[in-house]
Amino acid sequence: MATISCHLLFLNTPRSHPYSQQPQAKPLSRGRPQFQSRIRTKPTSASFIKAQAEAPKEEIVIVGAGIGGLATALSLHRLGLRSLVLEQAESLRTGGTSLTLFKNGWRVLDAIGIGNDLRGQFLEIEGMVVKSEEGRELRSFRFKDEDESQEVRAVERRILLETLANQLPPGAVHFSSKLAKIERTENGEIMLELVDGTRLFTKILIGCDGIRSSVAKWMGFSEPRYVGHCAFRGLGFYPEGQPFEPKVNYIYGRGLRAGYVPVSPTKVYWFICFNRPSPGPKISDSFVLKNQAKELVRNWPSDLMKIIDLTPDDTIIRTPLVDRWLWPAISPAASDGQVVLVGDAWHPMTPNLGQGACCALEDAVVLARKLANAIKSETESVEGALRSYGTERWPRVFPLTIRANVVGSALQWENPVVCSLRNNLIIPKLVRLGPLLEHTNFECKSL
Ligand SMILES: Cc1cc2nc3c(=O)[nH]c(=O)nc-3n(C[C@H](O)[C@H](O)[C@H](O)COP(=O)(O)OP(=O)(O)OC[C@H]3O[C@@H](n4cnc5c(N)ncnc54)[C@H](O)[C@@H]3O)c2cc1C
Repeated sequence: MATISCHLLFLNTPRSHPYSQQPQAKPLSRGRPQFQSRIRTKPTSASFIKAQAEAPKEEIVIVGAGIGGLATALSLHRLGLRSLVLEQAESLRTGGTSLTLFKNGWRVLDAIGIGNDLRGQFLEIEGMVVKSEEGRELRSFRFKDEDESQEVRAVERRILLETLANQLPPGAVHFSSKLAKIERTENGEIMLELVDGTRLFTKILIGCDGIRSSVAKWMGFSEPRYVGHCAFRGLGFYPEGQPFEPKVNYIYGRGLRAGYVPVSPTKVYWFICFNRPSPGPKISDSFVLKNQAKELVRNWPSDLMKIIDLTPDDTIIRTPLVDRWLWPAISPAASDGQVVLVGDAWHPMTPNLGQGACCALEDAVVLARKLANAIKSETESVEGALRSYGTERWPRVFPLTIRANVVGSALQWENPVVCSLRNNLIIPKLVRLGPLLEHTNFECKSL
């Protein structure tokens, strides 16, 4: 009984629904920023049955307010469908650095109506320069020489998340709402239990909960695999204005590479990728992280060292790189009944092609369209729409995951002969950028 009365504390009385497609849905208390319930006792089976009748019911729940989750919620919103986003953190991720988005990412951001908001804040990157660790230029490219329609910008993750979230209806994201348990009910709904004991029911569950996805685990996916290298990332801040041309700069060494790219007139994103047999312990002391990063590139071109020095300590992070290969017939499908995965939850990939977030954005619009068509049509089933999403997206994301891994392995070579061949023959003479960026082709109409 206690369980039910606590649930009722944050249940709205049924009211007319703002989205005509789902008149029967009973929303949670949308005006509140987060769940209020603090129930910890497990209900008895009798109270569970009653809770099933009275706990909040949603049509679509999205787990995770990262890029994939917010883009999916916004795509659904644009198509007239309401969803509830559950996020474990107390707020949107305010830390973090930046992401390079290629034209496929921008096509999606335009389709969901926020491309121009972001374009105004971030520099267009014209090309790319590759150097050796001694600072010798090995090769340079202009993106538009290879593909007139290419668009590359590094976007601050925080601003991307805020821009997505600001377009959602108030209360669409519930913070401090960490998913702990998923169960299918006898009537085909999905019961979600949060770590604080709060329960709710949904007809459709979209797992956008990143590389350590609980939804993917529940669906039978294996843990992502560590690929043997880690990355330091940071965002250098130049209060008087940064001095760099709008180009991505890469520096390739032995078992070690780094890069930096201007993000805005005052910010420059950098990364260092280094080999390590195991991910090692998590280090959260930013002073230690900064020193470790600097130590790795002590004798490299001084620009890089300067950017690291100008990086506020709290923006430096170290991440072990992981991926998961979605082998046909071995890996579970992207959907199971009315449960489906988006972004890193489904296809974690290494960042070597800068495609993880771009693909999460692509997933979001493809899934939202299929789901909206099924919900609005009398004939198409939701399960069929989710299956069709998986079938369409798998040939896109599986090869990209492998390609990103292979490119990363080649760039992390340690053997001096192989590195010399790479830096003196392959990069200067053989690499062509056009075919390398073909994967950024993605057509996407406005929602
Ligand atoms: C070093 C590095 C560099 C990268 N660079 C690029 C790049 O340049 N370009 C690019 O396109 N991609 C890049 N990526 C990849 C990109 O960061 C990811 O692909 C992208 O963030 C995936 O978004 P997502 O929404 O799927 O997952 P996430 O961003 O991880 O979001 C998952 C969300 O789910 C929440 N969550 C998790 N578990 C729960 C739970 N149980 N309950 C409730 N909420 C939960 C989390 O708190 C988080 O907010 C890079 C990745 C790395 C590691």
